[in-house]
Amino acid sequence: MAGKAATELRGWVRGDVIAPGDERYDEARKVYNGMIDRRPAVVVRCAGVADVIAAVKAARAEGLNIAVRGGGHSVPGFGTADDALVVDLVRMKGIRVDPAARTARAEGGCTWGDYNHATHAFGLASTGGVVSTTGIAGLTLGGGIGYLCRSAGLSLDNLLSADVVLADGSFVTANKDANPDLFWALRGGGGNFGVVTSFEYRLHPLKNIVGGPMFFDVEDAPDVMRAFNDYMTKAPRELYAVFAWQIAPPLPFIPEDRHGDTFCALVMCWTGPSDEAEKALAPLRGAADPVAELVGPMPYPALNSAFDGLYPPGLQHYWKAAFGGELTDELIGAHMAHGPKVPVVQSTTHIYPINGAVHDVAPDATAFGHRDAKYATVIAGMWPEPAQNDANIKWVRDYFKAIAPHSDEGGYINFLAGDDMDRVRANYGRSYDRLVEIKAKYDPDNVFRFNQNLSPRT
Ligand SMILES: Cc1cc2nc3c(=O)[nH]c(=O)nc-3n(C[C@H](O)[C@H](O)[C@H](O)COP(=O)(O)OP(=O)(O)OC[C@H]3O[C@@H](n4cnc5c(N)ncnc54)[C@H](O)[C@@H]3O)c2cc1C
Repeated sequence: MAGKAATELRGWVRGDVIAPGDERYDEARKVYNGMIDRRPAVVVRCAGVADVIAAVKAARAEGLNIAVRGGGHSVPGFGTADDALVVDLVRMKGIRVDPAARTARAEGGCTWGDYNHATHAFGLASTGGVVSTTGIAGLTLGGGIGYLCRSAGLSLDNLLSADVVLADGSFVTANKDANPDLFWALRGGGGNFGVVTSFEYRLHPLKNIVGGPMFFDVEDAPDVMRAFNDYMTKAPRELYAVFAWQIAPPLPFIPEDRHGDTFCALVMCWTGPSDEAEKALAPLRGAADPVAELVGPMPYPALNSAFDGLYPPGLQHYWKAAFGGELTDELIGAHMAHGPKVPVVQSTTHIYPINGAVHDVAPDATAFGHRDAKYATVIAGMWPEPAQNDANIKWVRDYFKAIAPHSDEGGYINFLAGDDMDRVRANYGRSYDRLVEIKAKYDPDNVFRFNQNLSPRT
């Protein structure tokens, strides 16, 4: 952005306008994935809706593309782009909980840690992600798979209303009564339609949970996967469990002589009465002999932040994802061929069950196009050193190649890599055609293109 335009924009906004040459520029252009190194024309750290409107109008006037950043966790780094104006919502963290109505309105720069902190004080929660530093914005707009989704649905199933700044700088509210087509599209269509400045969610009573990780030997992984596959469809809805591969970090609950060994793990979250946890977890705990476990009572936000330390900002990230059905013997064989070769302690594969309350919502009620899947699987390569890039990217690609023939064609848009854009139609699944129509109505010039992009002209 030319100096004069940036100076003018400073007069219009209360937040920060950070252009090249500003000492804050290198920090402001960073996103969570350390592999992303882009140089935007300007980063606008908006202080409120008025700033978002001013930033969008300035970008349009200057002919700049716009990248929108909520929590900045997008693995392809969609929250920043070369030569673009970045609408960064990091300063917009206001949250208002209405305990009587059991709703919360949160601004677009909140993380799940911010959100859970505010709602936990009232003994309430909504479905969020499994790491607290992820933004509510990108996660909700793409789906929102987490510990509460069997009991409370996806994050987007809890969305009641959204305030949005559109591509022409106008402001609208989208909910079931106002702009219902936009409201439908926001729930699964990602960041394609505008800047969501605030989200209103439904809340559910929840204070403490019983949860944490349980580690099993790799040789037992096929039995664990079979038990997981069988039980997670019929378990009480208050139970969620994620299957994972995990190199053991040097933590006290793991026998010292097993630190650094590779395990398969189940991470549990039981939200029902604590005295019923034992019984609810038994079919998973009994799948094989656990080598180590740290399952116990804790506040829900404690489980949500339990893995934050393992995933600090700045790691290198390369992920691939697929939705799928049953964990068949063939698919388990593909997992066994690659999962135990997980190269570093941060890298993992997660298999997230999609059922329970997620299946209560009609498949076409929102734009989340894979509601009928049984699992969302992500092969998440995450490692500290750029020197390890080749080995880790190869692990992710080889692993994905092995599971792809046993999986659906599309993957969850929030779990994909930047080189997955040729799968966009499959990723949006049954919703793709309607999403493209709504994109053409609300963003005909494709101003919001740094996402799993729905080109209005396809
Ligand atoms: C460590 C880690 C853990 C994760 N765990 C989970 C999980 O448990 N469950 C799950 O479902 N996903 C998970 N994800 C994936 C996550 O959902 C996506 O990375 C998501 O895009 C992050 O949202 P964000 O706001 O942090 O990202 P950003 O990079 O800020 O944005 C992501 C996309 O959303 C758009 N966007 C952001 N804010 C807005 C806004 N206010 N209005 C309009 N568009 C916007 C951006 O333009 C971009 O296209 C995880 C990711 C990471 C890195």
